[in-house]
Amino acid sequence: MAWAVKYVCGGCHRAIVAWDEGNPYYIDDAGDKHYAYHPDHKGLARCVGNDSPHLCLACGHEFMVDSRAPVAKCPKCGASEIADIYHLCGRHCPYCKAGVFAADPSFECIS
Ligand SMILES: [Zn+2]
Ligand SMILES: [Zn+2]
Repeated sequence: MAWAVKYVCGGCHRAIVAWDEGNPYYIDDAGDKHYAYHPDHKGLARCVGNDSPHLCLACGHEFMVDSRAPVAKCPKCGASEIADIYHLCGRHCPYCKAGVFAADPSFECIS
């Protein structure tokens, strides 16, 4: 079961939805990366890593961080203020630079 949360900026109302399990992937015999999603249990069982979405708190760029090759900086602007999108609560919004993200309690999504 996968859970999603929605964060909304209190300043510009920009919304970001995050899934708690990221994007698990496996490598096939040819060395290619494939993402496995529910209900692909066969694929999920072969997973060797996980790409989790991150947000740059400096420029607002969204990007994936590979668990097998983690990065500590935004690939676009090089800032080190990056946040796991699933843990955005209380972080400053990079889009309006004024608001703070808070979880939307009315949003509930289960896959
Ligand atoms: Zn904002
Ligand atoms: Zn950036």
